[in-house]
Amino acid sequence: MPDIEVRNVTKIYEERIVALYKVSVKVFDGEYVCIIGPSGSGKSSLIKVISGIIEPDEGEVYIGGRLVNNVPISERGLGLVMQDILLFPHMNVWDNVSYGPLVRGLGYDRAEFIGNEVLRSMSLHLRRSAMPHELSRGTQQKVAIARAVAAGARILLLDEPLGSVDPRAAKTLRFELRHLVKDLKLTALHITHNQEEALSIADRIIVMRKGRVEQVGTPFEIYARPKTPFIAKFIGGEASFLEGLVEETMDGRVKVNLGEEHVLVESSIGFRIGEKVVLGIRPEHVSIVRAGGSRPDNSISGIVKEVNFLGSYYRYMVETGGGNVLVKVPRLSAPSVSIGSRVFLTLDRAYIFKYPREGLDKAIAYE
Ligand code: ADP
Ligand code: MG
Repeated sequence: MPDIEVRNVTKIYEERIVALYKVSVKVFDGEYVCIIGPSGSGKSSLIKVISGIIEPDEGEVYIGGRLVNNVPISERGLGLVMQDILLFPHMNVWDNVSYGPLVRGLGYDRAEFIGNEVLRSMSLHLRRSAMPHELSRGTQQKVAIARAVAAGARILLLDEPLGSVDPRAAKTLRFELRHLVKDLKLTALHITHNQEEALSIADRIIVMRKGRVEQVGTPFEIYARPKTPFIAKFIGGEASFLEGLVEETMDGRVKVNLGEEHVLVESSIGFRIGEKVVLGIRPEHVSIVRAGGSRPDNSISGIVKEVNFLGSYYRYMVETGGGNVLVKVPRLSAPSVSIGSRVFLTLDRAYIFKYPREGLDKAIAYE
């Protein structure tokens, strides 16, 4: 049962750098979990604690239900794959992949069987005689993963494995990686700084920030129900934030005063009248129309300050009384507005958050 459980793990480096603070996460048997977060948020430290490269100051790590603190790296049944590709440069693909089973003393026939199975499942069997330097970085990384699997790893710990692969190839490889893990019934914990990669292949995503777990959920939950302004900004990208005061609360809805105007937003949590709040607005959740005709219900007025053509989308920066709002509209449904146009924005959806104690700027800062 190759599952992973991290309980209450704290790791503090010298000079009181808190890399992990009371982190608890669980990765279930057969699951593909991605970790994302700004750089320095503790992603690599978490994988190092699980693999045994570093010992936590506090807390426990369980693999397959067994406490592995103090169990050596080689006995944890893991395959660790990092951004820097580590293949034996003087050995061909086949020798790299069959090395693990041979070292485990499985005998030549068994090593050959396992090596072949893994190469086939990763569509690498035609490259078995190639030397690492003859392969693209993406294929080299596949060989590195094949080698870890052939050596008996049931759990893959991947620290930005596609980070140095050409982005085009990485887009295909991410799906191959997921298929490999699912086909071979492995369990994977995959760090990436690419949120699109995480959203597209993970069963669940762990978002880390400043050594803590900020939110865990399915890609849909993380995108559609961000728990904090930080998550709303970090996932999806280009969210705008407006500060306001709660004016009225109704059944599942809150009326927010934005200074010059007010909007109604849905909310599953309660707010007090007069309470300071933040609205998080995704660019794809705003409709924009040119002012002039009748004003849409529940809309905010503003002036277009910037228009960018992005191929399939137009992006507008709109100045409103409460602050700037970014809007993205598919090209074919874009309104005819230009810089200086007065527009009405309708929020098809907005996230409402309690005003963060540390202030909005700090709450959404990546650092
Ligand atoms: P991430 O992988 O999310 O970028 P890391 O886990 O590598 O983050 O690092 C978390 C924090 O711990 C950072 O502030 C980093 O500078 C610090 N850190 C990492 N490794 C060491 C180390 N060996 N000694 C001191 N500080 C470290
Ligand atoms: Mg890292």
